Amino acid sequence: MEIKLTNTMSREKEVFQPIKPNKVNIYTCGLTVYNYAHIGNLRAYVFSDILRRMFEYNGFKVNHVMNITDVGHLTDDQDSGEDKLEKGARREHKTVWEIAQYYTDEFIKDLNQLNIIIPEVMPKATDHISEMIELIKLIEKRGFTYSAGGNLYFDTTQLKDYGKLARLKLDAEKTRTRVEEDTYKKNPFDFVLWFTRYKYSSHSMLWDSPWGKGFPGWHVECSAMSSKYLGNHFDIHTGGIDHIPVHHTNEIAQSEVAFGHKWVNYWLHNDFLVIEDNQKMAKSKQNFLRLQTLIDRGFHPLDYRYFLLGAHYRKNLLFSFDNLQAAKNAVEKLRDWVMRLKKVEDEPDQTAYREYQQQFNREINDDLNTPRALSVLWEVLNHDQLSGGTKLSLLENFDQVLGLNLSTGKSEELPEQLKLLVGNRDEARNQKNFKLADQLRNEITRLGYQVIDSPEGTIVKKMK
Ligand code: AMP
Ligand code: ZN
Repeated sequence: MEIKLTNTMSREKEVFQPIKPNKVNIYTCGLTVYNYAHIGNLRAYVFSDILRRMFEYNGFKVNHVMNITDVGHLTDDQDSGEDKLEKGARREHKTVWEIAQYYTDEFIKDLNQLNIIIPEVMPKATDHISEMIELIKLIEKRGFTYSAGGNLYFDTTQLKDYGKLARLKLDAEKTRTRVEEDTYKKNPFDFVLWFTRYKYSSHSMLWDSPWGKGFPGWHVECSAMSSKYLGNHFDIHTGGIDHIPVHHTNEIAQSEVAFGHKWVNYWLHNDFLVIEDNQKMAKSKQNFLRLQTLIDRGFHPLDYRYFLLGAHYRKNLLFSFDNLQAAKNAVEKLRDWVMRLKKVEDEPDQTAYREYQQQFNREINDDLNTPRALSVLWEVLNHDQLSGGTKLSLLENFDQVLGLNLSTGKSEELPEQLKLLVGNRDEARNQKNFKLADQLRNEITRLGYQVIDSPEGTIVKKMK
């Protein structure tokens, strides 16, 4: 079945053509590990996970690489400020290596909790300094670099199509003011490939290089690591929309100069998770919400995953606890469905199964339309004529992409005593013995649980 994806390069929904049949190579810009991931960052990784799952669902063999940025990402994406890792180390009185290790582990914990399939390769920037140096040497050999003030820069004016991804209007934007202008740059868009000049004498991550002792620019790591693991020409590169004008623009410039040809076929970007007033969530702001913050407030990580799937990845998404609660309610309903469907033992109806499976496949192949894919799931569950077996098989099939762990049921197991009370209450209600049903409800409440009689059956929730 045809797969369509919106390519930021063309701004069009394109039919996906792999470089090698039935294989897809994907690179995702990973986290800068100087702090916890916020739930906005995690949107970017749920998105790349849905992408890989969609390909697997369509029979592709996926090779997914996601780097860990543990050096070179300065507090301003345009090469000014301080290395974020050094900043984290000073904040917490630890070494940069301790900071990187701690936040990498926390990040992987988040990925696991969100049921994100861990990418095949998760290379660390600091393990690939020699590859970066080799790449910079190639760029230098082609005459696209200059040294100034101790740093080695990429000269963007020599590249005819610089800025094509973001469609930068180079002349108009030349005049834009910067918070902290780098006076050594010949042109405003030039960027650092290798730093030997740094602000703080305590700076600890330094390596020898042909340009002096120092550290690499941020952009160069993604070009070096993606080409090492995926080759010099690969299918898909992903990231958040904030990476379009600087990071990805510069990755393209240096890679295409170094390799001498087109580098990536499809550029996919997720839009932002915002909180009220359309504010971008940022590690440096007060509005920093982690996955653990949601867990502490009584949500399951997969409630957040469901919440994200309810919006298309290319749409700005407003976060609120009310919206998350609605997602939680939906996930609980789904788990309840699974519990009830598992009790039914009938064979799936093959024709209906195939029809709905294809409908789901079409939606997910249409630029990862998760909101519509979820509607197909609900349509199946609410269908009066479909057998329980068909519903359950479809739900398990769809969950290969949705990744909500519906069938294995990660929801809290109810204590045995409670299960008995709920069963007895259902029985009493069936026999219209409402007095007994009410007594049993009171006992359930005393145990700290709430019973809700929904059209789909009894739902039991722990009270907060
Ligand atoms: P960083 O650690 O800053 O490199 O960010 C990691 C990933 O999160 C990148 O792909 C960013 O584009 C993405 N990102 C950052 N903030 C948000 C947000 N509020 N919503 C969605 N994605 C984001
Ligand atoms: Zn990157």
